Amino acid sequence: MRHFLLVAVLLLGLATGITQANPLVIRDQQDVIPLGLHTEYLLDDSRTLTLEQVQAGTFTAATTPALNFGFTRDRVWLRFQIDNPLPDAQTRILDVRYFLLDNVSLHVPTVGGEYQVQRNGRFNLADVTEHHGRFYSFSLHLPARSSQVFYLEVESGDSIALPIVLSTPAQQHRYQIRDTLFMTLYGGLILSTLLFALFMLASLRERELVYYVGFLVSHHVLAIMLMEGVPTALFGLESLLVTRELVLPAISCAILMSVLFMRNFLRLRQHNLTLYRVSQWMAGAMAVTLVLMMILPHFVAVILNVLVCMVVGTGILACCVLQARTQREARHFLLAWTAGILGATFYGLKVFQLVPVNTFTSYSWHMGTVVEAILFSFTIAHRVNMERRERLRTQTELADRERALRVTQEQLLHAETAAKEELEARVRERTRDISRILSELEHENKVLVELSINDGLTRVRNRRFFNDIYPQLWQEALEQHQWFSIIMVDIDHFKGINDQHGHLMGDRCLLVIAGVIKQLVSRPTDVVCRYGGEEFIVLLPETDVESARWVAERIRKRISETLCELDDQAITVTASFGVAGMIPEPGLDPMKLISVCDEALYTSKQQGRNRVTLAGKPQAPSNVSPLLRRQ
Ligand code: GH3
Ligand code: MG
Ligand code: MG
Repeated sequence: MRHFLLVAVLLLGLATGITQANPLVIRDQQDVIPLGLHTEYLLDDSRTLTLEQVQAGTFTAATTPALNFGFTRDRVWLRFQIDNPLPDAQTRILDVRYFLLDNVSLHVPTVGGEYQVQRNGRFNLADVTEHHGRFYSFSLHLPARSSQVFYLEVESGDSIALPIVLSTPAQQHRYQIRDTLFMTLYGGLILSTLLFALFMLASLRERELVYYVGFLVSHHVLAIMLMEGVPTALFGLESLLVTRELVLPAISCAILMSVLFMRNFLRLRQHNLTLYRVSQWMAGAMAVTLVLMMILPHFVAVILNVLVCMVVGTGILACCVLQARTQREARHFLLAWTAGILGATFYGLKVFQLVPVNTFTSYSWHMGTVVEAILFSFTIAHRVNMERRERLRTQTELADRERALRVTQEQLLHAETAAKEELEARVRERTRDISRILSELEHENKVLVELSINDGLTRVRNRRFFNDIYPQLWQEALEQHQWFSIIMVDIDHFKGINDQHGHLMGDRCLLVIAGVIKQLVSRPTDVVCRYGGEEFIVLLPETDVESARWVAERIRKRISETLCELDDQAITVTASFGVAGMIPEPGLDPMKLISVCDEALYTSKQQGRNRVTLAGKPQAPSNVSPLLRRQ
């Protein structure tokens, strides 16, 4: 089987046209030399060939300065010749600047033509005595004027990239210093963004920041540092768990965190439900991948990891692109994520020999992801700032609204007060009106009452009033056992006056006589009434009959002396009087007194008029009321 393979390799070599690679010639002043173009390679897919078999095999000349074999399970053999034409022996460092190699063994020719093997690589770290940095280095002793052929045997569960350089120990030392500086700078930047994210997380307590911190830790602190062999170089950690096994879960975890971070940061659930579901699927796929990374054989896991990460990474990019049209955060995320992806892409292109190996391509992943982390920090800070501004704007708006509300309230209060004052003024006005109307009504009432109880012509009480007051005064006198007297007055020959001087003069006489009677009957309790057409009756409570007769006499006398004037006429009239009085007795009809008084008046008329007749004491009972008789 082995021979068959050897023959196959030989035939393959012949078919492709083997060219002998240029030997690497050592000079005094020389830059660091990439070994690529000076090497030939042979792939052993059986991974069983011995050095002797390989030596007999056919090598292919490399055509790039740094070699790359991608994901291969083959054992890669490199052959190169180093000539030292110088008169002194030289020491050079052969540096394989790629950490993910399981076995890197250099077969060094000895004086006797034999080969001595120097083992390195992740599987052999415990056996390595001389470390020159974080990669795999071999110290080469090149005797004066010598020409030596070396064989390098490489195997890896990861992809095989072989950026190999040859440098002097001083050059290698400078490179290490540069590398350390760069890694320190990188580590410092990562640490500061991580601290920033942690502070943000502590103060904001948002879930997206948990994912972001998870991403920073799994991607920068774990994945990149492990892939670059930093824990091994710094702390001498040589176990396969650190150098080989943890890398894949760290990468899966980083992409998982990226998906979750993107999903929460872009608030996909609110803004785009479809993309939210897609992101859920991507997160699910990454979680499954993460688990598989710990179960599957390394080589299978590597390929699966690369494939899933590429798909999901592109998915994240697609989500950002789709959201970028409408969402500002998505544009920021896209920018940051693109920076990281571009860096990783350049790094990958370098590993696959598609771009030249230089400082930029060697550190493009680191730089890209640092830029990414810084942009994310800015984005998060920007978002916090935006949210703070929004909060401030809302607060100001609220304060404005509150102020406006207060102003409106004050205006309302003013309006209310004004309305109240106006209302009160109106009520006052109405109250004034009402009290005015009431007093007018009262007055009108009084007038009405006056009208209803007074006689319109003579302005003494009328007959209706007499009808009401007479029984009351009688009753009072009866109860108080007081004198109660009355005077009845009838104008003499009044009909003749009317006939002779006209009714107007008659009316004038009635007015004058009523005035005379009122004038002479001055006690407040006395009442003067017009009893009939030209008849008056005077009620005198608490007055004995003699006093009443005396009052009647005075009235009679004054009437006869008073002129009744109308226009150019002036006449005098006389009147006849009947006077009656008694202390009322229970059971006696009050009308009896009227009746006897009327009789006395009649007597005065009979006896010649213009005189006063005193009535006798009334005797009960009387059948016909004088009031009825007269009406
Ligand atoms: P005597 O002396 O007997 O009383 O005679 P007399 O004319 O006064 O008697 P009589 O009772 O017949 O007349 C009363 C007259 O009084 C009749 C009526 O025309 C008149 N008279 C009644 N009321 C009024 C009034 O309000 N105005 C005027 N001008 N005359 C009245
Ligand atoms: Mg009469
Ligand atoms: Mg008369």
